[in-house]
Amino acid sequence: MKLFKSLAFAGAMLAGTASFAQEKFITIGTGGQTGVYFVVGQSICRLVNRGTAEHNLKCTAPSTGGSIANINAIMAGDMDMGVAQSDWQYHAYNGTSEFEGNAFKDERAVFSVHGEPFTVIARADAGITSFADLKGKRVNIGNPGSGQYATMQVVMKALGWTMDDFALASELKPAEQAAALGDNKVDAIIYTVGHPNGSIQEAVSTVDAVLVPVEGPEIDKLIADNPFYAKATVPGGMYDGSPNDTTTFGVKATFVTSAKVDDDVVYQVVKAVFDNFDRFKRLHPAFENLTEEGMINDGLSAPLHDGAVRYYKERSWK
Ligand code: GLU
Repeated sequence: MKLFKSLAFAGAMLAGTASFAQEKFITIGTGGQTGVYFVVGQSICRLVNRGTAEHNLKCTAPSTGGSIANINAIMAGDMDMGVAQSDWQYHAYNGTSEFEGNAFKDERAVFSVHGEPFTVIARADAGITSFADLKGKRVNIGNPGSGQYATMQVVMKALGWTMDDFALASELKPAEQAAALGDNKVDAIIYTVGHPNGSIQEAVSTVDAVLVPVEGPEIDKLIADNPFYAKATVPGGMYDGSPNDTTTFGVKATFVTSAKVDDDVVYQVVKAVFDNFDRFKRLHPAFENLTEEGMINDGLSAPLHDGAVRYYKERSWK
């Protein structure tokens, strides 16, 4: 009996080891810890990992530099999936702008998520009421690798500005920028991000700060010339100090992967999100207005991944 028991135990151990060996780890690139991408990745992984017993996938979503860093990591095969702004999804696939000469033809779209206004927030005492007022000021233009850093380059080019137009162009990460604004190390920060979010909330609770509109003929032209830009508004009253709507332009946060990632893996990830869609939407206030239809149609320029298409067909959405 004793022998039988220990054999059974050894058998169970082996079975345990075998199923562990089959587990497949997938990594999702996100953004700074105080941003919304981090919550997108963490939320997706949480839903995927609830089903590990059935599909053997184990998902992790570490903090990263943001859109450009994620796309580059997926292109290099270092990450399986990631969140990226719709403008950079487009440029990566088409080999334009930042990705000139480095097209990512295997890039695949999975779905889009929340909208991301190009957001400028300034200390109330800095006298900045329009984007043009940033000239000569100390501005955090974002960390290299982030979507806001790359999109800021596009805006500067459209306006004919260079780094020399600022008294200081700092490259702090999102997690550091609210404190820098509060400590009067910078006059304004730039962040392409969903709202409401903790980072901007932190900034306005640390110091009197105002959202700055981003508009004018150059911005109108950017919107007219590029399918991935649209007018965007940060609603009045969302943050202290900004009682009125703030007009700017924006993109979408999107979820991307590579054609090299298994159809089954992408299928299971998409299924985990859309089979639990109400639960997903509750995980961040910026997800509140998401709809299935919008997510599988808006902001996507790379072809859909086959694994995602399989799920969308099953639901008769495609
Ligand atoms: N849009 C930012 C980026 O592409 C990230 C925003 C966030 O983390 O929510 O890097």
